[in-house]
Amino acid sequence: MPVTHNHVAKVIAIDGPSGSGKSTIAKELAHALNVLYIDTGAMFRALAFIADEKKIILKEGFALNEFLSSLKIEYKLSDSVLIRVNGQDLTERIREHHVSGLASIISQLPSVRKYLLDFQRSLALDKICVMEGRDIGTVVFPDSFCKFFITASVDIRAERRLKQLRENGDTTITLSQIIEDVRLRDETDMNRSVAPLKKAEDALLLDTSNLELKDVIHILSNETKFRAAHLGFNL
Ligand code: C5P
Repeated sequence: MPVTHNHVAKVIAIDGPSGSGKSTIAKELAHALNVLYIDTGAMFRALAFIADEKKIILKEGFALNEFLSSLKIEYKLSDSVLIRVNGQDLTERIREHHVSGLASIISQLPSVRKYLLDFQRSLALDKICVMEGRDIGTVVFPDSFCKFFITASVDIRAERRLKQLRENGDTTITLSQIIEDVRLRDETDMNRSVAPLKKAEDALLLDTSNLELKDVIHILSNETKFRAAHLGFNL
């Protein structure tokens, strides 16, 4: 007989450093399970993009609070629109290289994290979803029923990022610059005082350096289905 728990979030939490393959994995897993995919990095990126456009100084204070209260974020309006802020479609713009660094900086600010925490919690309600980020299993939904921490070596992650940038038409940046960026971003993400990137104790750790995507999805989807069945969640 399935066990029912009142305080278990119907969220499949996927955390890990940038370039670990977690976005592709989270997306594919959501597709395989036919559930909503929520990309929280896109939210930090979108805020960083708009703050940069409006020349907001990235530090706590009145101006930042005013900025946050002026925002209207809309997530996943359609298959082609991932994120819109104050009516502006940022689906493509948030992938520009300079936005990654800005997102990493803005994500250190407690009021920004609090703002997005509330937004992220409001998105996951009754139905099962896959939520991907850095602190989903530790802070946003510590009570999620299924947690994965995805990682890969720095070199592999940088190569993947380079490939992605080349596909998007960026031919200027070199591999060694990206390795440096990846290291710096890890350092910032893991050492910030609020919600640092770290594996939740009860998360399953998966190093994807030498794994094929289909094998990772196989492992994750079996584990998720097993847990969902045990809890009586519909999948
Ligand atoms: O995952 P992605 O690379 O798109 O995230 C961009 C940046 O946003 C990360 O470097 C990280 O600093 C921040 N982030 C975060 N918490 C999340 C998701 C992203 O701090 N849940």
